[in-house]
Amino acid sequence: MSAAAIVRAQWKDEPPHDCGRCERLAQFRADNAARFPDYFNAPVPSFGSPDARLLIVGLAPGLHGANRTGRPFTGDWAGDLLYSTLKAQGLARGEYGERADDGFTLIDCAITNAVRCVPPENKPTPAEIKTCRDFLTRQIAQMPNLKAILTLGQISHNSVLSALDIKKKDHPFAHGATHHTGKITLIASYHCSRYNTNTGVLTTEMFERAVAAAKKAAGI
Ligand code: URA
Repeated sequence: MSAAAIVRAQWKDEPPHDCGRCERLAQFRADNAARFPDYFNAPVPSFGSPDARLLIVGLAPGLHGANRTGRPFTGDWAGDLLYSTLKAQGLARGEYGERADDGFTLIDCAITNAVRCVPPENKPTPAEIKTCRDFLTRQIAQMPNLKAILTLGQISHNSVLSALDIKKKDHPFAHGATHHTGKITLIASYHCSRYNTNTGVLTTEMFERAVAAAKKAAGI
């Protein structure tokens, strides 16, 4: 069993390997499978345990990162900052080796994406975000200990609000904002993408503070 299959086995209702809900994404996946036959090229399953108290929600797999390795943020530029920060804050253990079978383990947190398939130019359409939300909603519902969600970027933030059936206008996206929504607290961060870090929109310190706030909100 591959590492990705082992992770998938912990979660119920993951998208099937050949998910065809979004025509454009399924076509892009088929094109990528022809171009990069060694890549994972499928909806990327969540990483971590459903028993976690903290869920981190990204945007979508990168073409040559998570779509290649089969694990969220793994092999993506954004994963370097995310995984080093999680490890520094005691939310992960092991050596992050940019591969799904590197043995790197999350502690009391899980990671998923608002959209599970790699989108062209990293830009899912509103319809694709809505279609894939079904998986996010079911994922949240199967986390009995969930106390906090760290959303990475506005698309993730808005999709999580919709998944929780909460009005967006009551909880607008702002980096560092904490939203108390009943049982689950949302912490919003700018996405830890290469663009945001290279342009200084998000500094390492800003990201570390957001992760620390999410950890605290989760009671970890
Ligand atoms: N890789 C992911 O899995 N998600 C993102 O949001 C960015 C890179």
